[in-house]
Amino acid sequence: MSYQHISVSGQPIALPVGKVVCIGQNYQDHIAEMQSKTAPDALFFIKPSTALCPLAPAFSIPPDRGAVHNETELAVLIGKPLKNADFATVQDAIWGYSLALDLTLRDVQAQLKQLGRPWEVAKGFDGACPVAGFVEKSQLQHSQQLEFRLLVNGKLRQNGNTANMIRGINQLISEMSQHFTLLPGDMVLTGTPAGVGPLAAGDELELQLAEHLHITTKVSA
Ligand code: ZN
Repeated sequence: MSYQHISVSGQPIALPVGKVVCIGQNYQDHIAEMQSKTAPDALFFIKPSTALCPLAPAFSIPPDRGAVHNETELAVLIGKPLKNADFATVQDAIWGYSLALDLTLRDVQAQLKQLGRPWEVAKGFDGACPVAGFVEKSQLQHSQQLEFRLLVNGKLRQNGNTANMIRGINQLISEMSQHFTLLPGDMVLTGTPAGVGPLAAGDELELQLAEHLHITTKVSA
């Protein structure tokens, strides 16, 4: 499916579609639910541009590769190049914010972890990153104090607040830019709070980002 970044009102944004740079383990409650070992260095990984797809009105999941887990995350759209950037440069380069799902093939990931292998294929498959429209930075003043949630079939599954990030938005993007140059149209995922779990075809999802976004969508049957 072709994908283009759009604004919250559905207008195309004049930026190319680039890579998605993600952080693992950025909320303590998710680290606890996964019983993950933490390290002082951040855990960064990349989803290719082909992972991006529209979040609504529906998205699909691989039918035959084991459990596909939701990870609801604040997404940041980058508007200017960033390399070894300080916090002020990062702030200036942000175009806006949205919500995305970092879809994860959890069984595949677990097998790869056990073998000590990279888990790229569990996170980077086509359609692994459904994302909503973006709210412009000027419309969203307190990006580090935003409540967000995911309901699946009417039941609350994830309820996070960006205030609980271990690495804040400016810090994590600054650190990412020490490893990977970020280009206009790239997107950053800021990590998931607790409440990851399997999605199934036919599930109805509701995602909310404070008063800025309220999306209903479903997993295609
Ligand atoms: Zn994630």
